[in-house]
Amino acid sequence: MELPGAWKPKRTSTSNLKASCGVYEVRRLSSLSAVMLLASLEEEQMTGFRTVPVDPAICDQVRSTLKSPQYGHPAHVEPAAGYGPCRACLKQFRVGQEERILFTYNPFAGLDAYPSPGPIFIHADACESFSQVEKFPDELRNLPLTLEAYGDDRQILGRERPNADQIEAAIQRCFEISAVRYIHVRNTEAGCFIARVERHEQVL
Ligand SMILES: [Zn+2]
Repeated sequence: MELPGAWKPKRTSTSNLKASCGVYEVRRLSSLSAVMLLASLEEEQMTGFRTVPVDPAICDQVRSTLKSPQYGHPAHVEPAAGYGPCRACLKQFRVGQEERILFTYNPFAGLDAYPSPGPIFIHADACESFSQVEKFPDELRNLPLTLEAYGDDRQILGRERPNADQIEAAIQRCFEISAVRYIHVRNTEAGCFIARVERHEQVL
């Protein structure tokens, strides 16, 4: 099946395959089966992904104005009383050691006309925006996560609640639905938006 943003996995590096997508349990297979699996993967072409944090420009604006850039509501600065995570670097807050800013954010801005504003946190001090491709953020992995896969008009076409070791496989299942445009990652307990996952075209 041809998918937009599809990419071919490297044939020579099975460790990369396993790291980038949990469905590739190559090491458990016999050598013959592994060869057959790699051949079938090339035929089907898997979809790469990237995890997108809140735009650094929005984060900079919040820190400088202490207002929500999208809504103008006052932002709130406080010592981190929970793990968060920070929606910029996608790392957990060090409770009692770091300060965080709470502000109102619409994660559908630029994606759909129907907004869903909600509260999110970022580090109060500037932090490095998450930018790794094909890598799900380590410090999100063990949180209670819900993946919501959206198509046009914000139609939810898939929903996954994966365990820590099944996140890449869950993302893959969502993107196997051709009409899915993007995935929102939310905290299952709080419902808050954490990050967006997009298809990523990788040329090998
Ligand atoms: Zn941060």
